[in-house]
Amino acid sequence: MRLFANIDVERAAVVRTMLARLSPGLDVLLPGDGFDPDSIDYLFTWALPSDIATGWPGLKVIFSLGAGADQFTASQIPTGVAVVRMIDDGLTAMMQEYVTMSVLALHRDLPGYLDQQRKQVFDRISNKPSAAQRRVGVMGLGELGCGALRALAPFGFALSGWARGKHVIDGVRTFYGADGLRPFLAQCDILICLLPLTPATAGILDRGLFATLPQGAALIHVGRGQQLDHAALTEALDSGQLRAAILDVTEPEPLPQGHLFWSDPRILLTPHIACVTRIESCMPALANNIRSHQSGRPMRGVVEPERGY
Ligand code: NAP
Repeated sequence: MRLFANIDVERAAVVRTMLARLSPGLDVLLPGDGFDPDSIDYLFTWALPSDIATGWPGLKVIFSLGAGADQFTASQIPTGVAVVRMIDDGLTAMMQEYVTMSVLALHRDLPGYLDQQRKQVFDRISNKPSAAQRRVGVMGLGELGCGALRALAPFGFALSGWARGKHVIDGVRTFYGADGLRPFLAQCDILICLLPLTPATAGILDRGLFATLPQGAALIHVGRGQQLDHAALTEALDSGQLRAAILDVTEPEPLPQGHLFWSDPRILLTPHIACVTRIESCMPALANNIRSHQSGRPMRGVVEPERGY
């Protein structure tokens, strides 16, 4: 079997070395190697090659370099080719760090205190809720959403989660489906978006959603930029409906120079770094999936085309 790793030279060398050990017998091709795309069984890539529809007739699986696969245009995937996103403990751990950092920053009013520092103001916010009084809700109860909840549990926050289907999670109040969205939102002082981008979740962080949150709630957005309505966020911040937002993802990325979010003291921006694929860390997951595919066992992270994630 042959895999083509469509990545930069530096990381490609790591892929070749690690897969030689983890998947002996797998022929690993890298950019610059002369090869016939007809002969490739597995493609490991962030972006689809432009000739994906017709140029890779032997292809069986496309492995995404990222935790999502929404960067692939679904209609371009040849029939019968599986798409698998990256599920790796290293990715989950990075997201846990980011979400914990962000929840604590919002719980302890860091955006407000940073603004005070810039203005040389020394003023304490009084009557702070304790962690137990702070209701933290996660949209999306998948690998990363559940990982985030596990990381937050030791702090004692009142945790909840919302997903498409029903989930039972120890110590977490769960909601599901369209009917569960309003009651879920109505009890989120800090809302974390960890949803995949699908037609159903595009634009989900909109006016109606912000209006349903308790007044003075805060947002952490680590899903995808296309899920957030920028004008609605600014309006919600201006009206006091929301008090702050931490955004790791925006549309577009980067935001254009002069965009309001760059200079809004109520918004903390990071450049899509909540979790990034570390090639060394994710090679065992790739090798395991290849082994599973070869022996007819289910692979981890297969994208279901009808759900879109
Ligand atoms: P996942 O395991 O596929 O989980 C997705 C979760 O979202 C599931 O719980 C699913 O519900 C829920 N969901 C999907 N569509 C929904 C809908 N229409 N309504 C309600 N719930 C819905 O995904 P993951 O690995 O946790 O990753 C989540 C997302 O994080 C990725 O897709 C990506 O967009 C984002 N991400 C961001 C970064 C970053 O650096 N900022 C890095 C990696 C990933 P069910 O459980 O009921 O199916």
